[in-house]
Amino acid sequence: MVASALLNSTKSINLTQCMKVLVTQNRSFTSHLNEQQLAVQELARNYTNQYLKPRASQLDLQGRFPFDEIKHITKLGLMGACVDEKYGGLGHDYLSLAIAVEELSRGCASTGMIVSIHNFLYANLVNEQGTPEQKERFLSDFTKGSIGCFALSEPDAGSDVANIKTTARRDGDYWILNGKKSWVTSAVEGSATAVFATFDPELRHKGLACFLVPLDAEGVFRGKKEPLMGVSSGHRAATACDLTLDDVRLPASCLLGQAGDGFRIAMRQLDQGRIGIAAHAVGIAQASLDTAIAYAKERVAFGRSLTALPSVKDRLADMCILVESARLLTWRAAAHVHSKHSAMAKYAAGRAAAAAAAHCVQVLGGRGLSTRYDAERHYRDARGTQIYGGVADVQKRLVGHFLLKEHDAL
Ligand SMILES: Cc1cc2nc3c(=O)[nH]c(=O)nc-3n(C[C@H](O)[C@H](O)[C@H](O)COP(=O)(O)OP(=O)(O)OC[C@H]3O[C@@H](n4cnc5c(N)ncnc54)[C@H](O)[C@@H]3O)c2cc1C
Repeated sequence: MVASALLNSTKSINLTQCMKVLVTQNRSFTSHLNEQQLAVQELARNYTNQYLKPRASQLDLQGRFPFDEIKHITKLGLMGACVDEKYGGLGHDYLSLAIAVEELSRGCASTGMIVSIHNFLYANLVNEQGTPEQKERFLSDFTKGSIGCFALSEPDAGSDVANIKTTARRDGDYWILNGKKSWVTSAVEGSATAVFATFDPELRHKGLACFLVPLDAEGVFRGKKEPLMGVSSGHRAATACDLTLDDVRLPASCLLGQAGDGFRIAMRQLDQGRIGIAAHAVGIAQASLDTAIAYAKERVAFGRSLTALPSVKDRLADMCILVESARLLTWRAAAHVHSKHSAMAKYAAGRAAAAAAAHCVQVLGGRGLSTRYDAERHYRDARGTQIYGGVADVQKRLVGHFLLKEHDAL
């Protein structure tokens, strides 16, 4: 109805312009969850409340990878939430997965991050782009306990993806990979990774290809766990490391798509990956709000609980607005995947997590800095969500690009 009314009222403009108006005014998103999404939310919420949340502080303080927790989450089906049932997955939609990642991240940000990257950047990629042979080899085991990774970043290529230096050389029925990847999440524990490499550096982004690489292949060397300590970084229980590829010989069947498709594959998958990091950030923001409210109710100052202080009430209200607006953008991005939606959700959710965690530390006062309380962990965990999966500055530029494109103003 809205569409026909708009079409009638715009007889003087041409159809292309009209469709652009329809796209920008699309209001079809609903925040109501369907039965499947509600069921996943309850499943992840119960597991988080009963098992994950009580263990998160110890996992973080000891910097221990959550092996048992990931095993349990695998049994719940959440390490293949969107993967076809034929390959051991649940066959659910992205919104269900985003909701699960939010709930898990609310309990333990490290675990939420591992689940987010495994699903959105590896399992969904192979599920959607892989050949049947690739799915048998690189997906079936990955819904049953093996962990998958995504190796795009390099020492000299983070935001600037087209500057990738890792090379892929064709040799008969094989490809030979050489180079170095940085910051590969879960590569210390993982079994396979997507690797992006150039077969012709002069072609820049058009010269990229994507390969599926077993992490035990000859010539693959995993670096040490990157130390993520100190105030500016969190996720101590998750891991990231360098990967060195030294004459790694892969059969041509490990090439995902065609040579030259690598940049398109990376960008498309990052649109999904950003939904995953946004959901992860919403979980951290919600955890910060929960921690702050619980403390403010108990703590007495000037003869009353902190919740009676207008400034604390204002902080809690700010946090609530940040969490809920970020959640809506994230759900919208998961329901309608588009680069602008994903970038906007990641940008807003990362800022919401950082701001909510800072409020949380402030509400707890001196205890906000103590490792006996959760606030400082949320503060460290929140920071990274504005960096990995694409830095906040670039997300904002992407939003501006797509906004102006919609308005023919580029
Ligand atoms: C804990 C952790 C886990 C990670 N996991 C993975 C992973 O699993 N796989 C993977 O491939 N990578 C991973 N990364 C890498 C991550 O995605 C990159 O760090 C990120 O994309 C930024 O790249 P960079 O660090 O090279 O920063 P740079 O690209 O050098 O950017 C540095 C700063 O420069 C500015 N900047 C750069 N370019 C622009 C631009 N175009 N517009 C505006 N400002 C700009 C921004 O302020 C930015 O913050 C991980 C990183 C961390 C910290």
